[in-house]
Amino acid sequence: MKTKIWLSSPHMGTAEFNNIKEAFDTNWIAPLGPHVDGFEHDLADFLGEGVHVAALSSGTAALHLALIMLGVKAGDEVICQSMTFSASANPIAYQGAVPVFVDSEDRTWNMSPDLLEAAIQDRIAKGRKPKAIIVVHLYGMPAEMDRIMAVADRYAIPVVEDAAEALGSSYRGRRLGTFGAMSILSFNGNKIITTSGGGALVSTNEEYIKQARFLATQARDAAPHYQHSQIGYNYRMSNVCAAIGRGQMQVLAERVRQRRANYAFYKEAFADIPAIQFPDEPSADFISNRWLSTVLIDDTAGVSREDIRLALEKENIESRPLWKPMHLQPVFAEAPYYGDGTSERLFEKGLCLPSGSNMTDEERRRVAACVKCCF
Ligand SMILES: *Cc1c(COP(=O)(O)O)cnc(C)c1O
Repeated sequence: MKTKIWLSSPHMGTAEFNNIKEAFDTNWIAPLGPHVDGFEHDLADFLGEGVHVAALSSGTAALHLALIMLGVKAGDEVICQSMTFSASANPIAYQGAVPVFVDSEDRTWNMSPDLLEAAIQDRIAKGRKPKAIIVVHLYGMPAEMDRIMAVADRYAIPVVEDAAEALGSSYRGRRLGTFGAMSILSFNGNKIITTSGGGALVSTNEEYIKQARFLATQARDAAPHYQHSQIGYNYRMSNVCAAIGRGQMQVLAERVRQRRANYAFYKEAFADIPAIQFPDEPSADFISNRWLSTVLIDDTAGVSREDIRLALEKENIESRPLWKPMHLQPVFAEAPYYGDGTSERLFEKGLCLPSGSNMTDEERRRVAACVKCCF
């Protein structure tokens, strides 16, 4: 059996292990500690725009806290991009609220600003004004934030930016994760940088971040005994995970460069196969970190997305269809949906290719050769 090529595997630099050792040597094996503070500063410095950051146990936890702080309660509605990973939508359900799914546009694969506005108008007409909008930057590609924010502002609905896949991407010169009232990041094992598991909440409003840290450590009031006036959560990041995160921040720029190089490699390798289409950045305003390299397979040539996925699997190469839209998921079958079929089409044709920043040239050539063999 040939060695496995993964879709996106962890890629450590050199500082991570020393940082962990330091955490052990000083016995800071706790959910809090100097590396947590340091990691939050590193992230805030990197993102710019004067943001504040709370390091948390996961991106999902960050999204949950964002919705809690925006006052999302049982029976409320929250608009969410349909084409995404389920973790974008699950926290809406944690609150007993109802997701309202909005389709993507072809240009970015992210939330269509036009369908967003149509959805908001229809929900308002039904007397159900949405409490928040969750917009996602899929695979690192920026959503059209100017237009999304303009629509959101027109109806005074706060935006939560799900930048879990988009650390290192930017839109009109500004880093993703700095546009929303709050934004979330993920450091899960397959993301562009990882803390083995972890996430962060980001906001220019420091009150949100202070409140997030409070809620994430069991909402303990200021008192010598344990006193609570609110329901709390155990959502903080551990000092050991943050130690890894600080090392990863030192190599983030390099990871973005490597992932973008993967995309450029595939684009060149498949230049002579018209059935393979690439989601290029729509203009110089959009810089994607290319977390995953994705392609669309036009099956009029007789080769389908699934043919290619199975051929890769035979060669011990992991690839994956694009995210299956949430409005097609059994668990969200009852949720309202506003769309024009774009995400369904993308899901049918789209494939994520191996995209790790630690892939060797030989591995990339193995992937390309296998894909080409299908045609
Ligand atoms: C990974 C991911 C999340 C969740 O992050 P976790 O840290 O795994 O909880 C949320 N949204 C999107 C789009 C993701 O890809």
